[in-house]
Amino acid sequence: MTLNQTLQQLNTQFADADEKMPALFVGHGNPMNALEDNEFSRAWIATGQALPKPNAVLCVSAHWETVGTQVTAMAQPRTIHDFGGFPRELFEYHYPAPGSPALARLTQATVMQTAVQFDHRWGLDHGAWSVLCRLFPHADVPVIQLSLDRRQTPAEHYALGKELRTLRHKGVLIVGSGNLVHNLGMITWQDNAYDWAIEFDAAITRAIQTGDHAAIMHYAKLGHVARLALPTNEHFLPLLYVLATQAANEPARFFADRVTYGSLSMRSVWIG
Ligand code: ZN
Repeated sequence: MTLNQTLQQLNTQFADADEKMPALFVGHGNPMNALEDNEFSRAWIATGQALPKPNAVLCVSAHWETVGTQVTAMAQPRTIHDFGGFPRELFEYHYPAPGSPALARLTQATVMQTAVQFDHRWGLDHGAWSVLCRLFPHADVPVIQLSLDRRQTPAEHYALGKELRTLRHKGVLIVGSGNLVHNLGMITWQDNAYDWAIEFDAAITRAIQTGDHAAIMHYAKLGHVARLALPTNEHFLPLLYVLATQAANEPARFFADRVTYGSLSMRSVWIG
């Protein structure tokens, strides 16, 4: 098949939808949110019920970092249990959503600023499945993951996210999964919050509300609180992908908005 034929086929499969898909950033937190009934899992279930049904999901998870940008391109991604120290039932949980080699091809054809490589080994990590199993409990929406290129700056991740905008017009739901504040070294496992966690969360929230994406890209300018909130930034970067798809007149609202475990913001954002 020539490249043109492939693109024609994709344009049929992912024809411009009547309705533009929202885009979501989900603060995933504890992987037990996949199984436990709590305020966060309930908020994700309600969000899934409020969404129009997508053709497919493109998920950017904090838990898949690579050299170069990759997309999962297998027909049936495996469930990856990429954590330790949790109950056996979590390791036995499988999320059987199909992949979408077609969306992987469409993503590759859409992104111009870097060469997107096909991956056949990854699957769905817990950043993806612990959230998607609540949004789409019947596992009936195909899912691909897009990796985080660990060499890129926040501004480069944002620019890549901008290129994904058009997918929202083709029935693709873009889901970023991470945490806006994420410091595992200082986690308390209690329902409380450090002052610096609340301060950083509030500063980013204001920037989301005013559409000041430059301030979000340059979060490091917040200094001491930023270093405490994000000792590493892989949990923050998926937010940039989601915000980058926001049009000038599109609202942002929050479907979870709290810091817990001392150093984990569960704040989750609905764009559109
Ligand atoms: Zn995580």
